[in-house]
Parts: sequence; C-alpha cells; structure tokens
Amino acid sequence: MLTELKSKIRDVKDFPKKGINFKDITTLIKDPKALQQVIEIFYVKYKDSKIDVVTGIEARGFILGSILAYKLGVGFVPLRKPGKLPAKIISAEYDLEYGTDTLCVHEDAILKGENVLIVDDLIATGGSVQVACNLIEKLDAKIITVAVLVELEFLKGRDKVKSYDIFSILKY
Ligand code: AMP
Repeated sequence: MLTELKSKIRDVKDFPKKGINFKDITTLIKDPKALQQVIEIFYVKYKDSKIDVVTGIEARGFILGSILAYKLGVGFVPLRKPGKLPAKIISAEYDLEYGTDTLCVHEDAILKGENVLIVDDLIATGGSVQVACNLIEKLDAKIITVAVLVELEFLKGRDKVKSYDIFSILKY
C-alpha cells in the first residue's frame, strides 16, 4: 500500500528553486482512495491517544489536519503565516529547506494542558515542525505527537525535534 501511495506523489524538480526536488502531494490528495488511506492510517494510530485538538501547519498541513480532526471528533487549530490571524497571537521564526518563515497561533486557541496532535504534509529540515512545537509549548499544552505524510529522511529533520514523537507514513 505504501508503494502505491508513494506512486501518487509527484516529484517536481527545481521547485521552488534550483536543487529542490519538490514532493507534490496534490496528486495524492486528489485521489479519493489514496486520501482515504492516508487519513485512515493516521486515524487508526491516534484514535485512542486522547487527542483534544489537532493543529495544522499552513498551508498543506490544513488539508490533512482538518480532515483528521473531523474524523477524530476534535477541533482544528491553524498555525499560520504572519498577518493572517485576526486576534492576539504568539509567533516564532524558522528556517525552511528553501528560505525562512514565521508561524503564528492565536494565544487562546489551545488551552493549558490540552493534548495536541500537530499535522503537516512533510518534514524536510524540521524547522517548521520545531517552531510549531515551540508555539504549542508556549501555550502550555502537551504535544502528544507530530504526524506527517512525507519524511525526507536524508535531511534529518527529526534530529531537530528529538524530544517529540514524530510519525511519518512515507519515507524518502
Ligand atoms: P522544513 O521546515 O524544512 O521541515 O520544511 C517543511 C515544510 O516545507 C513543509 O511544510 C513542506 O510543505 C515544505 N517543504 C520543504 N521541502 C519540501 C520538499 N522537498 N517538497 C515539498 N515540500 C517541501
């Protein structure tokens, strides 16, 4: 099944800049069976983990994260780029595989002590997951796990977030 799922991901060379092999998940999520399989894998893994809230990292983390939240019967909190969230926020900066960026969250979005599941499409260098974890920690919530569809193992992203449980479905 994993080989079949991998075949649904499109490799785009030199996007968004030269030297990056972009893993395009749009070709996977438009496939109904593949999308269902991915959500089902996450669901089975986390259904008994007492998750209170799912957070997703902008923008592709919103897609898988919100479907998973619905399936788990919990709410969804977006971790967004600057200038998008209207109420009081906290933020942190991070390095991407191809640039730098900032993530923000509403300071009242997650309650102290809540069990949080962080979702993203892909972990590359681990910078964005690290900042997501920092934001959740600042809210005094508990990070149960980080779930991603794709892990670029050669970039050793999980070394940046060693203290957290990281689960990936497809590894490269
Ligand atoms: P990083 O902070 O380096 O782990 O980068 C992870 C974020 O950047 C993910 O949310 C991805 O959406 C995006 N990203 C980084 N590298 C790639 C890649 N090679 N293919 C697709 N998306 C990528």
